[in-house]
Amino acid sequence: MRLIIMGPPGAGKGTQARFIAEHFKIPAISTGDIFRANVSEGTELGLEAKRYMDAGEYVPDEVTNLMVRNRIDEPDAVSGFLLDGYPRTLAQVEELDGMIRFTGHRLDAVVCLTVDQDEIVDRLLQRAQVEGRADDTEDVVRRRQEVYLEQTAPLIEVYKKRGIVHEIDGLGEVADVTQRIFSALDVIPES
Ligand code: ADP
Repeated sequence: MRLIIMGPPGAGKGTQARFIAEHFKIPAISTGDIFRANVSEGTELGLEAKRYMDAGEYVPDEVTNLMVRNRIDEPDAVSGFLLDGYPRTLAQVEELDGMIRFTGHRLDAVVCLTVDQDEIVDRLLQRAQVEGRADDTEDVVRRRQEVYLEQTAPLIEVYKKRGIVHEIDGLGEVADVTQRIFSALDVIPES
């Protein structure tokens, strides 16, 4: 199973990604988490990424593509994966297509979480207090939303043309959203 979860910053992708990945027994690969881990370890990749992340801008495609390529080459991702936060640009879509084609598989589904803009800013500012993420200040949150609308929202149309998009209402209780995703994917949750 090869899946993508998409949606604006703060839509709850990371939370839902964990449940989906657990169900399909595949790794949830979050580019944001990998970047943050590199930043806290002070790696070269982390130093490069931090400049962009702190400003709410995207890390350059070459850097991100290589990182994802290496990650999905790891043994735990051979039978499938769920990508959270990638692809985010049209160039990344093409790159991912190439990576998946190379393995002889296909992209099975794109789960797209939809949420209201104002609700999102509130959620992100709350998360800032809990997690203390450097990119959760109000200005940066707004910039991340702009960048999402400009660069990433158009990707949904690309995948819609392929008929693999499941649009899911991301508002409400976490468990309800998970339920909507599972029913869209025809999954019968284990009790
Ligand atoms: P959110 O979904 O809340 O915006 P993420 O944790 O997914 O946050 O990403 C945090 C930051 O990491 C992004 O704002 C961006 O700078 C960088 N990043 C993550 N994924 C990508 C990507 N696919 N391409 C470029 N930059 C990325």
